[in-house]
Amino acid sequence: MSTITETLENLNNLSITAESLVKDSFTKMDTHGQYGAFISTQKEHALEKAARIDAFRREGKKLGALAGIPLAIKDNINVENVKTTCGSKILENFISPYSATASQKLLNQDAILIGKTNMDEFAMGSTSESSFFGATLNPADTKLIPGGSSGGSAAVVSAGFVAGALGSDTGGSIRQPAACCGVVGLKPTYGRVSRYGLVSYASSLDQIGPITNNVADSALLLNHICGHDINDCTSSKQKVEDFTQNLNQDIQGKVIGIPKEYFGDGLDANVKTTLETSLQKLEKEGAILKEVSLPSLEHAISTYYILATAEASSNLSRFDGVRYTHRSADAKNLYELYTKSRAEGFGAEVKKRILLGTFVLSSGYYDAYYMQAQKVRRLIKNDFENAFSACDVIAAPTIATSPMKVGEAIQDPMAMYLSDIYTVSLNLAGLPGISVPVGKPSDHCSMQIFGKAFAETELLQVASNLERLR
Ligand code: GLN
Repeated sequence: MSTITETLENLNNLSITAESLVKDSFTKMDTHGQYGAFISTQKEHALEKAARIDAFRREGKKLGALAGIPLAIKDNINVENVKTTCGSKILENFISPYSATASQKLLNQDAILIGKTNMDEFAMGSTSESSFFGATLNPADTKLIPGGSSGGSAAVVSAGFVAGALGSDTGGSIRQPAACCGVVGLKPTYGRVSRYGLVSYASSLDQIGPITNNVADSALLLNHICGHDINDCTSSKQKVEDFTQNLNQDIQGKVIGIPKEYFGDGLDANVKTTLETSLQKLEKEGAILKEVSLPSLEHAISTYYILATAEASSNLSRFDGVRYTHRSADAKNLYELYTKSRAEGFGAEVKKRILLGTFVLSSGYYDAYYMQAQKVRRLIKNDFENAFSACDVIAAPTIATSPMKVGEAIQDPMAMYLSDIYTVSLNLAGLPGISVPVGKPSDHCSMQIFGKAFAETELLQVASNLERLR
Protein backbone atom coordinates (compact mmCIF):
# COMPACT_ATOMS: atom_id res chain seq x y z
CA MET A 1 0.00 0.00 0.00
CA SER A 2 1.47 3.37 -0.96
CA THR A 3 1.92 6.19 1.50
CA ILE A 4 -0.03 9.43 1.25
CA THR A 5 3.16 11.16 0.12
CA GLU A 6 3.58 8.64 -2.73
CA THR A 7 -0.05 9.08 -3.74
CA LEU A 8 0.44 12.85 -3.75
CA GLU A 9 3.46 12.45 -6.04
CA ASN A 10 1.36 10.41 -8.45
CA LEU A 11 -1.40 12.98 -8.30
CA ASN A 12 1.05 15.81 -8.91
CA ASN A 13 2.70 14.15 -11.90
CA LEU A 14 -0.80 13.48 -13.25
CA SER A 15 -0.36 9.70 -13.43
CA ILE A 16 -3.53 9.31 -11.36
CA THR A 17 -6.48 11.58 -10.63
CA ALA A 18 -8.35 12.44 -7.45
CA GLU A 19 -11.53 11.38 -9.20
CA SER A 20 -10.14 7.89 -9.80
CA LEU A 21 -9.16 7.64 -6.11
CA VAL A 22 -12.65 8.61 -4.97
CA LYS A 23 -14.28 6.27 -7.47
CA ASP A 24 -11.99 3.52 -6.30
CA SER A 25 -13.11 4.07 -2.67
CA PHE A 26 -16.76 3.72 -3.55
CA THR A 27 -16.19 0.75 -5.88
CA LYS A 28 -14.43 -1.05 -3.02
CA MET A 29 -17.37 -0.32 -0.73
CA ASP A 30 -19.80 -1.62 -3.33
CA THR A 31 -17.75 -4.78 -3.82
CA HIS A 32 -16.90 -5.62 -0.21
CA GLY A 33 -19.74 -3.93 1.66
CA GLN A 34 -18.97 -1.22 4.15
CA TYR A 35 -18.56 -3.45 7.26
CA GLY A 36 -20.97 -1.04 8.93
CA ALA A 37 -18.03 1.33 9.17
CA PHE A 38 -19.68 4.49 7.81
CA ILE A 39 -22.66 6.31 9.30
CA SER A 40 -22.87 8.60 6.28
CA THR A 41 -20.96 8.94 3.02
CA GLN A 42 -20.52 11.99 0.80
CA LYS A 43 -20.21 10.40 -2.64
CA GLU A 44 -21.58 13.21 -4.79
CA HIS A 45 -19.79 15.93 -2.92
CA ALA A 46 -16.53 13.93 -2.94
CA LEU A 47 -16.68 13.30 -6.70
CA GLU A 48 -17.43 16.94 -7.39
CA LYS A 49 -14.55 18.14 -5.24
CA ALA A 50 -12.21 15.59 -6.82
CA ALA A 51 -13.09 16.74 -10.33
CA ARG A 52 -12.49 20.36 -9.29
CA ILE A 53 -9.12 19.49 -7.76
CA ASP A 54 -8.09 17.54 -10.89
CA ALA A 55 -9.01 20.50 -13.10
CA PHE A 56 -7.06 22.93 -10.90
CA ARG A 57 -4.09 20.60 -10.94
CA ARG A 58 -4.06 20.31 -14.73
CA GLU A 59 -4.24 24.10 -14.94
CA GLY A 60 -1.27 24.36 -12.60
CA LYS A 61 -3.24 26.26 -9.91
CA LYS A 62 -2.01 26.22 -6.34
CA LEU A 63 -3.56 23.45 -4.26
CA GLY A 64 -3.46 22.40 -0.60
CA ALA A 65 -0.88 19.94 0.70
CA LEU A 66 -3.35 17.02 0.77
CA ALA A 67 -5.15 17.84 -2.47
CA GLY A 68 -7.17 14.84 -3.64
CA ILE A 69 -6.47 12.49 -0.73
CA PRO A 70 -9.63 10.60 0.38
CA LEU A 71 -10.12 10.73 4.15
CA ALA A 72 -12.81 9.84 6.68
CA ILE A 73 -13.78 11.50 9.95
CA LYS A 74 -15.26 9.94 13.08
CA ASP A 75 -18.87 10.89 13.60
CA ASN A 76 -18.24 12.82 16.80
CA ILE A 77 -16.08 15.40 14.96
CA ASN A 78 -18.06 18.11 13.21
CA VAL A 79 -17.98 18.90 9.52
CA GLU A 80 -20.11 21.84 8.40
CA ASN A 81 -23.43 20.86 6.80
CA VAL A 82 -22.83 17.17 7.45
CA LYS A 83 -24.54 15.04 10.11
CA THR A 84 -22.72 14.49 13.42
CA THR A 85 -24.55 11.67 15.17
CA CYS A 86 -21.99 10.35 17.68
CA GLY A 87 -23.52 6.96 16.90
CA SER A 88 -26.59 8.00 18.90
CA LYS A 89 -30.31 8.20 18.28
CA ILE A 90 -30.36 11.44 20.25
CA LEU A 91 -28.32 13.12 17.46
CA GLU A 92 -29.74 11.05 14.62
CA ASN A 93 -30.79 14.11 12.61
CA PHE A 94 -28.29 16.69 13.79
CA ILE A 95 -26.52 18.53 10.98
CA SER A 96 -23.51 20.44 12.20
CA PRO A 97 -23.54 24.19 11.45
CA TYR A 98 -19.73 24.40 11.68
CA SER A 99 -16.58 22.34 11.24
CA ALA A 100 -14.25 21.17 13.98
CA THR A 101 -10.85 22.83 13.73
CA ALA A 102 -9.17 19.49 12.92
CA SER A 103 -11.69 18.72 10.14
CA GLN A 104 -11.42 22.23 8.74
CA LYS A 105 -7.63 22.07 8.66
CA LEU A 106 -7.72 18.89 6.57
CA LEU A 107 -10.37 20.30 4.24
CA ASN A 108 -8.37 23.53 3.89
CA GLN A 109 -5.54 21.36 2.54
CA ASP A 110 -8.00 20.03 -0.08
CA ALA A 111 -8.34 16.54 1.40
CA ILE A 112 -11.58 14.90 0.28
CA LEU A 113 -14.12 13.74 2.85
CA ILE A 114 -15.48 10.32 1.88
CA GLY A 115 -17.68 9.82 4.92
CA LYS A 116 -18.27 10.00 8.66
CA THR A 117 -17.39 6.82 10.50
CA ASN A 118 -19.30 4.62 12.89
CA MET A 119 -18.39 4.49 16.55
CA ASP A 120 -19.54 3.37 19.97
CA GLU A 121 -22.30 5.72 21.09
CA PHE A 122 -20.67 8.95 22.34
CA ALA A 123 -17.30 7.16 22.14
CA MET A 124 -18.17 5.00 25.15
CA GLY A 125 -16.94 1.52 24.41
CA SER A 126 -14.14 -0.60 23.01
CA THR A 127 -15.93 -2.70 20.43
CA SER A 128 -17.96 -0.37 18.14
CA GLU A 129 -21.05 -2.41 18.90
CA SER A 130 -23.01 0.17 20.91
CA SER A 131 -23.78 2.45 17.95
CA PHE A 132 -27.46 3.20 17.33
CA PHE A 133 -26.65 2.57 13.64
CA GLY A 134 -25.46 -1.00 14.21
CA ALA A 135 -22.12 -2.67 14.83
CA THR A 136 -18.95 -2.20 12.78
CA LEU A 137 -17.13 -5.37 11.73
CA ASN A 138 -13.42 -5.97 11.46
CA PRO A 139 -12.54 -6.05 7.71
CA ALA A 140 -9.69 -8.52 8.32
CA ASP A 141 -12.04 -11.02 9.99
CA THR A 142 -15.71 -10.16 10.29
CA LYS A 143 -16.17 -12.49 13.27
CA LEU A 144 -13.99 -10.13 15.28
CA ILE A 145 -14.72 -6.68 16.67
CA PRO A 146 -12.79 -3.80 15.05
CA GLY A 147 -12.15 -2.31 18.49
CA GLY A 148 -13.56 0.98 19.59
CA SER A 149 -14.73 3.49 20.00
CA SER A 150 -13.16 4.69 16.70
CA GLY A 151 -13.79 1.26 15.15
CA GLY A 152 -15.30 2.76 12.01
CA SER A 153 -12.23 4.92 11.38
CA ALA A 154 -9.86 1.97 11.87
CA ALA A 155 -12.01 -0.28 9.67
CA VAL A 156 -12.25 2.15 6.72
CA VAL A 157 -8.46 2.55 6.72
CA SER A 158 -7.74 -1.17 6.98
CA ALA A 159 -10.33 -1.96 4.27
CA GLY A 160 -8.58 0.51 1.96
CA PHE A 161 -11.63 2.78 1.57
CA VAL A 162 -9.60 5.85 2.53
CA ALA A 163 -5.95 6.77 3.03
CA GLY A 164 -6.50 7.91 6.59
CA ALA A 165 -9.12 8.87 9.13
CA LEU A 166 -9.56 10.97 12.23
CA GLY A 167 -10.51 9.31 15.48
CA SER A 168 -10.80 10.47 19.06
CA ASP A 169 -9.07 8.93 22.05
CA THR A 170 -10.33 9.41 25.61
CA GLY A 171 -9.02 6.15 27.05
CA GLY A 172 -7.62 4.32 24.04
CA SER A 173 -10.20 4.78 21.30
CA ILE A 174 -7.65 5.53 18.58
CA ARG A 175 -4.92 3.09 19.59
CA GLN A 176 -7.05 0.07 20.53
CA PRO A 177 -9.15 -0.09 17.31
CA ALA A 178 -6.00 0.56 15.29
CA ALA A 179 -4.50 -2.52 16.98
CA CYS A 180 -7.62 -4.61 16.38
CA CYS A 181 -7.64 -3.68 12.67
CA GLY A 182 -3.88 -3.90 12.08
CA VAL A 183 -3.31 -0.22 11.34
CA VAL A 184 -1.47 2.68 13.01
CA GLY A 185 -3.20 4.94 15.55
CA LEU A 186 -1.74 8.04 17.19
CA LYS A 187 -3.03 9.83 20.27
CA PRO A 188 -1.26 13.18 20.46
CA THR A 189 -0.31 14.97 23.68
CA TYR A 190 -3.33 16.54 25.39
CA GLY A 191 -3.61 20.03 23.91
CA ARG A 192 -1.69 19.24 20.71
CA VAL A 193 -4.84 19.11 18.57
CA SER A 194 -7.76 21.47 19.11
CA ARG A 195 -10.88 19.83 20.51
CA TYR A 196 -13.10 22.57 19.07
CA GLY A 197 -15.93 20.80 17.27
CA LEU A 198 -15.24 17.41 18.85
CA VAL A 199 -18.32 16.37 20.82
CA SER A 200 -17.01 16.08 24.37
CA TYR A 201 -17.01 12.79 26.21
CA ALA A 202 -14.49 13.54 28.99
CA SER A 203 -12.96 16.92 28.19
CA SER A 204 -9.82 16.51 30.30
CA LEU A 205 -8.93 13.29 28.45
CA ASP A 206 -10.25 13.65 24.88
CA GLN A 207 -7.81 14.11 21.99
CA ILE A 208 -8.27 13.89 18.22
CA GLY A 209 -5.66 11.95 16.25
CA PRO A 210 -5.00 10.13 12.96
CA ILE A 211 -5.54 6.47 12.07
CA THR A 212 -3.48 5.48 9.04
CA ASN A 213 -1.86 2.59 7.19
CA ASN A 214 1.62 3.51 8.26
CA VAL A 215 3.69 5.72 10.55
CA ALA A 216 4.70 8.21 7.84
CA ASP A 217 1.05 8.97 7.07
CA SER A 218 0.37 9.40 10.77
CA ALA A 219 3.14 12.00 11.03
CA LEU A 220 1.95 13.76 7.90
CA LEU A 221 -1.67 14.03 9.04
CA LEU A 222 -0.55 15.20 12.47
CA ASN A 223 1.37 18.01 10.76
CA HIS A 224 -1.90 19.26 9.34
CA ILE A 225 -4.27 18.98 12.30
CA CYS A 226 -2.35 20.36 15.25
CA GLY A 227 -1.60 23.83 16.52
CA HIS A 228 -3.01 26.44 18.87
CA ASP A 229 -6.64 27.38 18.40
CA ILE A 230 -8.32 30.33 20.08
CA ASN A 231 -11.56 28.34 20.09
CA ASP A 232 -10.10 25.75 22.49
CA CYS A 233 -8.48 27.21 25.59
CA THR A 234 -6.84 23.85 26.35
CA SER A 235 -5.06 23.76 23.00
CA SER A 236 -1.36 24.30 23.40
CA LYS A 237 0.81 27.12 22.10
CA GLN A 238 3.68 24.65 21.73
CA LYS A 239 5.56 25.08 18.48
CA VAL A 240 4.34 22.80 15.67
CA GLU A 241 7.30 20.94 14.23
CA ASP A 242 7.46 18.90 11.06
CA PHE A 243 6.66 15.51 12.59
CA THR A 244 8.03 13.67 9.56
CA GLN A 245 11.56 15.04 10.07
CA ASN A 246 12.98 12.15 12.14
CA LEU A 247 11.20 9.23 10.50
CA ASN A 248 13.45 6.19 10.16
CA GLN A 249 16.40 8.01 11.68
CA ASP A 250 18.84 5.90 13.55
CA ILE A 251 17.79 4.94 17.10
CA GLN A 252 21.31 4.20 18.30
CA GLY A 253 21.45 4.92 22.03
CA LYS A 254 17.71 5.62 22.44
CA VAL A 255 16.59 4.33 25.79
CA ILE A 256 13.33 2.42 25.57
CA GLY A 257 11.65 1.90 28.93
CA ILE A 258 9.92 -1.43 29.42
CA PRO A 259 7.36 -1.08 32.23
CA LYS A 260 7.41 -4.40 34.01
CA GLU A 261 3.74 -4.11 35.09
CA TYR A 262 2.65 -4.00 31.44
CA PHE A 263 4.37 -7.27 30.63
CA GLY A 264 3.11 -9.23 33.65
CA ASP A 265 -0.11 -11.04 34.51
CA GLY A 266 -2.96 -10.74 32.06
CA LEU A 267 -0.79 -10.40 28.95
CA ASP A 268 -1.34 -13.29 26.54
CA ALA A 269 1.79 -15.44 26.19
CA ASN A 270 1.84 -15.24 22.37
CA VAL A 271 1.36 -11.48 22.43
CA LYS A 272 4.21 -11.22 24.90
CA THR A 273 6.55 -13.28 22.71
CA THR A 274 5.72 -11.22 19.63
CA LEU A 275 6.36 -7.99 21.52
CA GLU A 276 9.64 -9.26 22.92
CA THR A 277 10.83 -10.33 19.48
CA SER A 278 10.06 -6.86 18.14
CA LEU A 279 11.86 -5.20 21.05
CA GLN A 280 14.93 -7.34 20.40
CA LYS A 281 14.98 -6.05 16.82
CA LEU A 282 15.05 -2.49 18.13
CA GLU A 283 17.86 -3.49 20.47
CA LYS A 284 19.87 -4.87 17.52
CA GLU A 285 19.54 -1.43 15.91
CA GLY A 286 21.26 0.10 18.90
CA ALA A 287 18.36 0.99 21.18
CA ILE A 288 18.87 0.33 24.88
CA LEU A 289 16.07 -1.56 26.62
CA LYS A 290 15.67 -0.63 30.23
CA GLU A 291 13.18 -1.93 32.76
CA VAL A 292 11.06 0.82 34.32
CA SER A 293 8.08 0.74 36.64
CA LEU A 294 4.58 2.20 36.31
CA PRO A 295 3.17 0.76 39.54
CA SER A 296 -0.17 2.59 39.43
CA LEU A 297 -1.31 0.49 36.47
CA GLU A 298 -3.55 -1.53 38.79
CA HIS A 299 -5.54 1.62 39.65
CA ALA A 300 -5.80 2.94 36.10
CA ILE A 301 -9.14 1.38 35.12
CA SER A 302 -11.03 2.39 38.26
CA THR A 303 -9.57 5.92 38.15
CA TYR A 304 -10.41 6.30 34.49
CA TYR A 305 -13.98 5.05 34.79
CA ILE A 306 -14.69 7.40 37.70
CA LEU A 307 -13.25 10.50 36.05
CA ALA A 308 -14.45 9.79 32.50
CA THR A 309 -18.03 9.07 33.59
CA ALA A 310 -18.08 12.07 35.95
CA GLU A 311 -17.10 14.37 33.09
CA ALA A 312 -19.46 12.61 30.69
CA SER A 313 -22.44 13.01 33.02
CA SER A 314 -21.86 16.75 32.98
CA ASN A 315 -21.02 17.02 29.25
CA LEU A 316 -24.03 15.00 28.15
CA SER A 317 -26.49 17.11 30.14
CA ARG A 318 -26.68 19.45 27.15
CA PHE A 319 -28.60 16.83 25.19
CA ASP A 320 -31.98 17.69 26.63
CA GLY A 321 -34.53 17.59 23.80
CA VAL A 322 -34.82 21.37 23.78
CA ARG A 323 -32.47 22.43 21.03
CA TYR A 324 -30.84 20.16 18.47
CA THR A 325 -31.45 16.67 19.81
CA HIS A 326 -34.14 14.04 19.54
CA ARG A 327 -37.32 15.41 21.15
CA SER A 328 -39.86 13.06 22.68
CA ALA A 329 -43.21 13.26 20.97
CA ASP A 330 -45.30 12.64 24.07
CA ALA A 331 -43.90 14.96 26.71
CA LYS A 332 -46.61 16.79 28.64
CA ASN A 333 -44.38 19.28 30.44
CA LEU A 334 -40.78 20.49 30.56
CA TYR A 335 -39.70 17.82 33.03
CA GLU A 336 -41.04 15.09 30.79
CA LEU A 337 -39.45 16.71 27.77
CA TYR A 338 -36.06 16.31 29.41
CA THR A 339 -36.56 12.85 30.86
CA LYS A 340 -38.40 11.24 27.96
CA SER A 341 -36.15 12.73 25.27
CA ARG A 342 -33.09 11.48 27.11
CA ALA A 343 -34.60 8.11 27.96
CA GLU A 344 -35.57 7.54 24.32
CA GLY A 345 -32.42 9.06 22.83
CA PHE A 346 -29.57 7.51 24.78
CA GLY A 347 -28.58 3.84 24.58
CA ALA A 348 -27.96 1.53 27.54
CA GLU A 349 -24.18 2.01 27.84
CA VAL A 350 -24.47 5.80 27.79
CA LYS A 351 -27.23 5.74 30.43
CA LYS A 352 -25.14 3.45 32.61
CA ARG A 353 -22.23 5.90 32.45
CA ILE A 354 -24.37 8.98 33.11
CA LEU A 355 -25.72 7.23 36.22
CA LEU A 356 -22.27 6.22 37.40
CA GLY A 357 -20.83 9.68 36.71
CA THR A 358 -23.70 11.43 38.49
CA PHE A 359 -23.25 9.11 41.44
CA VAL A 360 -19.52 9.75 41.89
CA LEU A 361 -20.15 13.50 41.78
CA SER A 362 -23.06 13.47 44.20
CA SER A 363 -22.80 14.94 47.64
CA GLY A 364 -21.57 12.38 50.14
CA TYR A 365 -19.73 10.37 47.48
CA TYR A 366 -17.75 13.12 45.75
CA ASP A 367 -14.86 12.96 48.23
CA ALA A 368 -14.74 9.19 48.31
CA TYR A 369 -14.78 8.70 44.55
CA TYR A 370 -14.23 11.77 42.39
CA MET A 371 -11.71 13.55 44.62
CA GLN A 372 -9.91 10.31 45.37
CA ALA A 373 -9.67 9.49 41.67
CA GLN A 374 -8.23 12.96 40.96
CA LYS A 375 -5.49 12.25 43.49
CA VAL A 376 -4.73 8.87 41.95
CA ARG A 377 -4.59 10.56 38.55
CA ARG A 378 -1.80 12.75 39.94
CA LEU A 379 0.05 9.63 41.12
CA ILE A 380 -0.27 8.08 37.66
CA LYS A 381 1.19 11.23 36.14
CA ASN A 382 4.03 11.12 38.69
CA ASP A 383 4.73 7.50 37.75
CA PHE A 384 5.22 8.50 34.13
CA GLU A 385 7.46 11.40 35.15
CA ASN A 386 9.62 9.05 37.20
CA ALA A 387 9.80 6.47 34.42
CA PHE A 388 10.68 9.10 31.82
CA SER A 389 13.56 10.35 33.97
CA ALA A 390 15.29 7.08 33.05
CA CYS A 391 14.27 6.60 29.40
CA ASP A 392 13.37 8.43 26.18
CA VAL A 393 10.23 6.51 25.21
CA ILE A 394 8.25 3.65 26.73
CA ALA A 395 7.11 0.48 24.93
CA ALA A 396 3.96 -1.37 25.97
CA PRO A 397 1.32 -3.71 24.56
CA THR A 398 -1.81 -2.06 23.11
CA ILE A 399 -4.17 -4.97 23.75
CA ALA A 400 -3.55 -8.01 25.92
CA THR A 401 -5.01 -10.62 23.58
CA SER A 402 -6.39 -10.96 20.06
CA PRO A 403 -9.54 -8.87 19.46
CA MET A 404 -12.75 -10.21 21.05
CA LYS A 405 -15.40 -11.94 18.98
CA VAL A 406 -18.47 -9.93 18.01
CA GLY A 407 -21.04 -10.20 20.81
CA GLU A 408 -18.59 -11.31 23.53
CA ALA A 409 -18.32 -7.94 25.26
CA ILE A 410 -22.08 -7.53 25.49
CA GLN A 411 -22.20 -10.64 27.65
CA ASP A 412 -19.20 -9.59 29.70
CA PRO A 413 -19.00 -5.78 30.04
CA MET A 414 -16.39 -6.05 32.78
CA ALA A 415 -14.05 -7.80 30.34
CA MET A 416 -14.58 -4.89 27.96
CA TYR A 417 -13.69 -2.29 30.62
CA LEU A 418 -10.60 -4.29 31.59
CA SER A 419 -9.48 -4.46 27.96
CA ASP A 420 -8.57 -0.75 28.25
CA ILE A 421 -5.92 -1.54 30.85
CA TYR A 422 -2.89 -0.66 28.70
CA THR A 423 -4.31 2.49 27.11
CA VAL A 424 -6.14 4.59 29.71
CA SER A 425 -3.16 5.66 31.84
CA LEU A 426 -1.69 7.66 28.98
CA ASN A 427 -4.85 9.79 28.74
CA LEU A 428 -4.86 10.29 32.51
CA ALA A 429 -1.26 11.53 32.22
CA GLY A 430 -2.02 13.62 29.09
CA LEU A 431 0.90 12.09 27.16
CA PRO A 432 1.26 11.04 23.49
CA GLY A 433 1.25 7.43 22.30
CA ILE A 434 1.15 5.52 19.06
CA SER A 435 0.05 1.95 18.34
CA VAL A 436 1.98 0.12 15.61
CA PRO A 437 1.29 -3.43 14.36
CA VAL A 438 4.10 -5.93 15.02
CA GLY A 439 4.54 -9.60 14.17
CA LYS A 440 2.52 -11.31 11.44
CA PRO A 441 -0.87 -9.82 10.52
CA SER A 442 -2.53 -13.00 11.85
CA ASP A 443 -0.96 -12.32 15.29
CA HIS A 444 -3.25 -9.27 15.70
CA CYS A 445 -0.52 -7.81 17.85
CA SER A 446 0.44 -4.16 18.25
CA MET A 447 2.95 -2.27 20.33
CA GLN A 448 2.44 1.16 21.83
CA ILE A 449 5.22 3.69 22.05
CA PHE A 450 4.59 6.34 24.71
CA GLY A 451 6.41 9.65 24.61
CA LYS A 452 7.10 12.59 26.89
CA ALA A 453 4.72 15.53 26.58
CA PHE A 454 4.96 17.07 23.09
CA ALA A 455 7.68 14.60 22.05
CA GLU A 456 5.68 13.24 19.10
CA THR A 457 8.67 13.62 16.75
CA GLU A 458 10.76 11.27 18.89
CA LEU A 459 7.91 8.83 19.33
CA LEU A 460 7.32 8.72 15.58
CA GLN A 461 11.03 8.14 15.02
CA VAL A 462 11.01 5.00 17.17
CA ALA A 463 7.63 3.89 15.75
CA SER A 464 8.88 4.18 12.16
CA ASN A 465 11.86 1.97 13.00
CA LEU A 466 9.58 -0.57 14.65
CA GLU A 467 7.46 -0.62 11.50
CA ARG A 468 10.46 -0.96 9.18
CA LEU A 469 11.84 -3.89 11.19
CA ARG A 470 8.54 -5.77 11.23
N1 GLN B 1 -12.99 2.18 25.93
C1 GLN B 1 -12.89 3.38 26.70
C2 GLN B 1 -14.25 3.82 27.17
O1 GLN B 1 -15.19 3.14 26.89
C3 GLN B 1 -12.22 4.46 25.91
C4 GLN B 1 -13.11 5.11 24.96
C5 GLN B 1 -12.47 6.27 24.25
O2 GLN B 1 -11.27 6.43 24.23
N2 GLN B 1 -13.32 7.10 23.68
O3 GLN B 1 -14.41 4.80 27.84
